[in-house]
Amino acid sequence: MTTATDLETQPAPGPEAQPSAADLDARDPLRRYRDLFVGADDPALPAYLDGNSLGRPVKALAERYRRFVDDEWGGRLIRGWDETWLRKPFALGDRIGAATLGAAPGQTVVADSTTVSLYKLLRAALDARPGRHEIVIDRSNFPTDRYVVEGVAAETGSTVRWLEPDAAGGVTADDVRAVLGPETAVLVLSQVAYRSGHLADVPGITRLAHEHGALVLWDLCHSAGAVPIELDAWEVDLATGCTYKYLNGGPGSPAFVYVNRALLDGLRQPIQGWMGERTPFEMGQDYRPADGIRRFLSGTPPITGMIAIEAMLELIEEAGMPAIRAKSEALTAFAVRRIDEQLVPLGVELTSPRNPAARGSHVTIDHPAFPAMVPELWEQGVIPDFRRPTGIRLGFSPLSTSFAEVALGIGAIEERLQHS
Ligand SMILES: *Cc1c(COP(=O)(O)O)cnc(C)c1O
Repeated sequence: MTTATDLETQPAPGPEAQPSAADLDARDPLRRYRDLFVGADDPALPAYLDGNSLGRPVKALAERYRRFVDDEWGGRLIRGWDETWLRKPFALGDRIGAATLGAAPGQTVVADSTTVSLYKLLRAALDARPGRHEIVIDRSNFPTDRYVVEGVAAETGSTVRWLEPDAAGGVTADDVRAVLGPETAVLVLSQVAYRSGHLADVPGITRLAHEHGALVLWDLCHSAGAVPIELDAWEVDLATGCTYKYLNGGPGSPAFVYVNRALLDGLRQPIQGWMGERTPFEMGQDYRPADGIRRFLSGTPPITGMIAIEAMLELIEEAGMPAIRAKSEALTAFAVRRIDEQLVPLGVELTSPRNPAARGSHVTIDHPAFPAMVPELWEQGVIPDFRRPTGIRLGFSPLSTSFAEVALGIGAIEERLQHS
């Protein structure tokens, strides 16, 4: 298998002889996957660099949606629930767990949004640590994570303990060690920081928290499908993440929720709905939480939002996470090289880790001209994300992003900076 390191070191006799984007694409062992996505060859959209916010649809989806409408929904109607849909949140959860999370069956379910899942998991974790009153989170975490933590703290009389990591980095084991204590109940952290791309030491931080009797809730939105994850082996307590980013589930597709088997039967989540009850169709008077991961369901699962995730998972299962991670590292390494050569001399700053092993599948760059530039780039079909106050985030979805797209995107930014 070709690794990221091979791709970077193969020719390179001197700094001027770096491989071109075309060479890297020609040698990319995953290059055939790009053609399986809608819009990959659209001339009006030469560089889509935001697959980490919304992945492209898999081409085979149109036929799958048609079959779903005609046969499953239209043909089976209400019978579909008993025949397939009631099992789907668990079957799909197990499949996401096996392909991307390192999670054995029975611990992952697909439901709700990441925001709602964060709320449910955080409340459950706090209840499991009675007498402890601190929730730890970082100021650089995604807004929804911070808002949910503040809301739960207000609701439960807990205190928020804020970490303040470096803008180009993220939360480290040392940061966590400095705040852990007998009051710490739960830490809410992202494996990959949504702005800088910093890749956190999940096993190390989880171990530290456990040594202090605390639980950790990991947000995997920017990591599932892009970086290696071993939730069981790392003894992670709780995790959740989006499926519309690197799992290409489509706008608003539901989140996945992971609860470690060792904790499952001791946890109660706060949104007690009939789908998490032991015998939903008995329609009983009293709520008794179901055994296993089903107690983390609340209402009727969003089946239509799960179809696209299945189509993407097939590709991820086939390509394998090691090859996906190798391509991702090669893409970010190539981007950083081009940023150093073409953009840093124009005053651009790299606000992401320099070591490919220390970041996820995106990099962020900052320059005061970027707020005005992003709408112009979008106009020409070069689509990165803008991140306040002055950041452009370049996200690479390993199965659908080409090296040529990365080169084109960075070239477009260079050209605009030269003429601004
Ligand atoms: C994208 C993202 C979310 C989004 O949550 P939704 O409930 O799907 O809107 C949450 N957390 C992180 C870290 C994200 O990157």
